[in-house]
Amino acid sequence: MSEAFDQVDELGPAKIIHVYEPSHHLKAILVVDNVACGPAIGGLRMAPDVSARECARLARAMTLKNAAAGLPHGGGKSVLFGDPKMPREQKEPLIRAFACALRGNDEYIFGPDMGTDETCMAWVQDELGGRAVGLPRDIGGIPLDELGATGWGLSSAVDAAMDYVDFALDGARLVIQGFGSVGIHAARFLTRKGAVVVAVADSRGAIYNPDGLDLDRLIELKSAGHGVNEYPHGEKLERDAVVGITSDIWIPAARPDVVHAGNVGQMDTRLVVQGANIPFTTEAELALHERGVLVIPDFIANAGGVICGAMEYRHLSQQAAFDAIDEKVSTNTAEVLKRSTEQKIPPRLAAERMAGERVKRAMVTRRWSIF
Ligand code: NAD
Repeated sequence: MSEAFDQVDELGPAKIIHVYEPSHHLKAILVVDNVACGPAIGGLRMAPDVSARECARLARAMTLKNAAAGLPHGGGKSVLFGDPKMPREQKEPLIRAFACALRGNDEYIFGPDMGTDETCMAWVQDELGGRAVGLPRDIGGIPLDELGATGWGLSSAVDAAMDYVDFALDGARLVIQGFGSVGIHAARFLTRKGAVVVAVADSRGAIYNPDGLDLDRLIELKSAGHGVNEYPHGEKLERDAVVGITSDIWIPAARPDVVHAGNVGQMDTRLVVQGANIPFTTEAELALHERGVLVIPDFIANAGGVICGAMEYRHLSQQAAFDAIDEKVSTNTAEVLKRSTEQKIPPRLAAERMAGERVKRAMVTRRWSIF
């Protein structure tokens, strides 16, 4: 029996497929968690140590994220065992073979994830036609990392949260932890709205200046392969010291669990908008909530990428995708914060309930369930 079966509940998974193809050294798994809202969208992850359990957890996270975003899509995920850095002449046939093995499973749409990129999605598209998003621009893709779709969504979440905090966005002190695709674009969009970046961290270190950092200069440094702590006009800090910097808005955009029981006491901010997935442990997030810090959970705030993929799937323009991200992320953030305030529960719990209700309503509408 699959190790993913111990996670079965009333929502899913609907389908688990294990694929073995010795001639291509292919070992992979697809989990389609729930398709009540529509065909599942979820990434293809490639790594040597993936598992059915991880795939099932990620597929469920996509069910909730897509439902929370109000997309007509369910959740699914696929994993491929192997080193993502293998030479292209090995990786391409492997991914093509996996896509071919999934012919007929039309309820799953591939997207890029760890270890796969837009070129991999082009191979899937080639084999399956119309069942991949996150494609290269010249075959109809909207390059979400280049354009900053997720960072744009984070800035919409901040806008919506402004009704629930006691400071203005103009002049708000902003800390960015993780200066990659998500962090850079979030900083770019928020500084346009008046926020001032006071500290930034990447994997090599951090830089702090209470009077503000020059974002263009930081981006130039990063593009030239330098660390942010080589920026000349600021105080160089250890990477994790950004946790304790006084700010109004704090955006995690790096790794999971960067704020935990051991350092949450150092946090000195008023609004956290989660760009990374599960950047805080459950206990740290709860501790902040109890201290009155507003935390917008990851699957509400960072849905810009998947919304962009859903718009690409419908062959809509870049502008339409950005409009949809703004509308959906700000509406959903406002709804979550309203429920959280009215019901006196943490925003994450309000968001999980909202997403679960949407999936269950879709199941009832399709007469799949009697919830
Ligand atoms: P990226 O690789 O472009 O950037 C990550 C940045 O984090 C890099 O600057 C790296 O140096 C820095 N970093 C790594 N470890 C760090 C640490 N411990 N402290 C501080 N900085 C650290 O990745 P990305 O695409 O920007 O994604 C960032 C996070 O957001 C990931 O958790 C990803 O899963 C999540 N996410 C990304 C998207 C998207 O559209 N790219 C969408 C949703 C969620």
